Amino acid sequence: MTIAESIETVKENIARAQAASQFAAPSVLLLGVTKTQTIEKMRQAEAAGITDFGENRVQEMMSKYDEFPQINWHLIGHLQTNKVKYIIGKTVLIHSLDSIALAQEIEKRSAAADLVTNALVQINIAEEETKSGIHEEELADFLQAMADYPHLRIQGLMTIGPHVEAPEEIRPVFAELRKLFEREKQKALPHLDLRYLSMGMSYDYPIAVEEGANIVRVGSSIFGARY
Ligand SMILES: *Cc1c(COP(=O)(O)O)cnc(C)c1O
Repeated sequence: MTIAESIETVKENIARAQAASQFAAPSVLLLGVTKTQTIEKMRQAEAAGITDFGENRVQEMMSKYDEFPQINWHLIGHLQTNKVKYIIGKTVLIHSLDSIALAQEIEKRSAAADLVTNALVQINIAEEETKSGIHEEELADFLQAMADYPHLRIQGLMTIGPHVEAPEEIRPVFAELRKLFEREKQKALPHLDLRYLSMGMSYDYPIAVEEGANIVRVGSSIFGARY
């Protein structure tokens, strides 16, 4: 399959998942995850209609950034505070806000650049020790604390599904994240702009869409296996 055909297939699967579930969002952003992928493959994806790329490392994103002036860049991997300065003003959304220290650094750098940086709070809902993210029970306090950072706009939640034998086993985790998201949205805190639920990768994006994801992060199902 070509990259364009793979993207078509992913889009069809997303549409099918939307039609199958009452929880599905009316529109879902397909984020092309481009880590380790070549500029040539990325050009094919852009030509096939992908508007947003996700990279999980700052250095790799920066090395590709100038090649794609029309693309919206998302940082989806763990972000170290000492790397924040490189991406301020270059990413439409950071998916991996996972600590107060990181929020402070984003605030400081964004204020200095006189702009606002958008981010999602990464939740470690599966409580896997290998994953970053804040725990479910800390979320309400964490979101409250974001009022101190006017140059950081919290736009939603992100999670990475647990490693399981069958994708269907992930469903309760995604359903839980949707409930958390709804709960926090209902509070309507004025300093928050909760609108995105980023969950689902190649292995599990149809289930994520059925459970309300409106951003899915898909790499290998578009570009093939990573080497
Ligand atoms: C690599 C990555 C993805 C995409 O993974 P695939 O299984 O290739 O679709 C999604 N989200 C994050 C955070 C990633 O690091």
